[in-house]
Amino acid sequence: MPCEKCGEIRIITRQRVLCPNCDNLSMLDTQDVLSNKRKELSIIDSQFLNAINKTDYNQTFGSAIFNRELAANESIYVAAKRKYAINEWLVYTYLLHNLHYIGKGGTSNFPELVNLSRKTVQYYNQIRSLEQGFAVMVETEGQESFEWTELEPLSFVPKEVRDDSEFRPILDNVKDRDLHRYRAITRRIDVTNSGCSFI
Ligand SMILES: [Zn+2]
Repeated sequence: MPCEKCGEIRIITRQRVLCPNCDNLSMLDTQDVLSNKRKELSIIDSQFLNAINKTDYNQTFGSAIFNRELAANESIYVAAKRKYAINEWLVYTYLLHNLHYIGKGGTSNFPELVNLSRKTVQYYNQIRSLEQGFAVMVETEGQESFEWTELEPLSFVPKEVRDDSEFRPILDNVKDRDLHRYRAITRRIDVTNSGCSFI
């Protein structure tokens, strides 16, 4: 829902929902940001290709497959880590997609490769999100930050909304029986989110 006062697409930060106009935010020009990010991605990409072209194939292949399976497992069974695990699965898939056999005697550089693969996936994600208006760059006190707009499907609830009394269940005047039910439901959600089986 755009800003009610000016119609601008709002920004969803961890703390608050903000309007670029009404909250007087310092927005960076998206085209400039994209141009810089694409240049940085091309540098990271060439570092990644250099590293993967000299890696020990067997060691890297085995480690990447093992870690990708772990990430896939976590994305299904650990609800609280789902977003992180899916991202990790993408990181190892990208690495494996670019891996090829170069003969014996490669370098043992798996941590460096994972690090570069993570950066590549992160940059691709940021560039695609900026291109489609799902994200913007905001400058606050000299610090640049990447923020989601309300066009991006919400994956967290900002603190401002969480703390708003309108969004909290009001327990006054609730009968004991209903309160007991509410607590049982809350407990069930906690158990599910911690990755245990359904009860
Ligand atoms: Zn506004």
